[in-house]
Parts: sequence; C-alpha cells; structure tokens
Amino acid sequence: MKKIISILLVGLLFVSCTKEVKNNDDSKVSRVKSVTLNQFAVIKTLAEGNYLSNITYKEIKHAGNFGLGTFNYLNGEMVALNGKFYQAKVDGSVNLVKDSDCAPFAAVHHFIADQSFKVDNKIINLTELQNYLGNYLSNNRNIYSFKIHAEFDSLIVRSVPAQSLPFPPLTEVINNQTLFHLKNIKGTLVGYWFPQYLSNVNAPGFHFHFISDDEKHAGHVISCSFSKADIELDELTKLNLVIPQNEEYQSN
Ligand SMILES: [Zn+2]
Repeated sequence: MKKIISILLVGLLFVSCTKEVKNNDDSKVSRVKSVTLNQFAVIKTLAEGNYLSNITYKEIKHAGNFGLGTFNYLNGEMVALNGKFYQAKVDGSVNLVKDSDCAPFAAVHHFIADQSFKVDNKIINLTELQNYLGNYLSNNRNIYSFKIHAEFDSLIVRSVPAQSLPFPPLTEVINNQTLFHLKNIKGTLVGYWFPQYLSNVNAPGFHFHFISDDEKHAGHVISCSFSKADIELDELTKLNLVIPQNEEYQSN
C-alpha cells in the first residue's frame, strides 16, 4: 500500500512540475518549455551609473533570441528579435550588434509563446496598451514577455548618447534622450513585464523596445498607437543572473 501511495505521489509531482505548452491549434506539446530569463547585470546598478561591463554580446546572444538591453558607455538601445540583435544609436542609425560589444545591462531569453491573440480595437497610447496587456498577467510574481507586431499609426522611440567618465546617473542621461517620432510604420515591440518585488533586478512594470520590419528604426518605446496587432505572450518562471566581473563594475 505504501508503495502504491509513493508511486502516486511521484506521479502527482511529475504532473505538477511539468508545464504543458499549447500550440495555437490547442494541441498539447509533450515537452517542458524554456522558461528562464537570462539577465546580465541589474537595473539598480545601471541606474546608478555603472555603464561598463565585461559581458560580451557573444555570451548574451547564446542566452536568448529575444530581449532588450544597452551597451557600454550607454551607447544606444539594444533590441533582439528572432535571433537578430540590433543597436539603435542616438543619431537614429540601426546596426547589427557585434559579438565584441559589451552590455552593462541586458535581459534575453528564448521566446516560446504560451498564448497568441489579436487586438482589433484601437489602442491610443502606451498606458492603454499596458492596461490591456495587464489583463493577461495571471499573477504578480512571475515575469512576462510580449512580442507585439503591428502597423503603428504613430510610435515614439528614444535613444541616448554615449556617456563619458565620470558617468552621470541614468536619470540625468535620460534628460538628454533623443526622441524619434515615427508614423505608419510596421514593426515589433519586444518587451518584458517585471514584478515590483524584483525592482532592483529589472524595471518593474512594462518595458518595450522596438524594431521596424525594415530594420531601419529602433529604440526604447515612449508611446505608440495602433488599430490592430498580433500579440504573443511568454510567461517566465526562472531567472538566471550574470554579474559583471570587471573591476569598474565591481569597485563602483
Ligand atoms: Zn529601454
């Protein structure tokens, strides 16, 4: 009898520890999905002006095909989509990220959608989008990522200029951000939602970066509006943190 109970218990544990993934056609996929966010440094140290790290994009690219971040000296905004990594610089140019570039902050993972849905009603600004997406967060403890493809009626993105030592805090740098006002542009928002209790790790709430379909426009999203969008959501339940080991980061 004891043996039967323990077999049952093992069975129950197996069921509860294995997350089933559903396809768009609702058929079950018999595998455990990838649910780890790979984070490189944290938002708290970035906000304090730690803009130098020895973590290369070669390492970061191995850790995911989707995500966002920045560069040493805060030289632009990084957005990663479908395995391609882009650098949006303050002059408006968008380049592919070199393996030798380094990041004082980045968050990436291998995106596998848990849910896909369409929006058919008008979203007029970022607050409205965040309120809408808030309905899809099943709890306030996990991390969520969103891939949102749309033809945007309007979109405001920003980038920031490269900084020099001694580095000012992030709030001062953002005061010197450059805004780009884009109209009727197709592209993808790449974003995360972080819970408040992890606010030293990553920006709490929603955080989106953008890359246009033609790969010519990108940046940190300030606002957007659209009438239709295809949205994919990926819920993340594990967090892997890589702490920079260079002296500038360690001693500051
Ligand atoms: Zn950003």
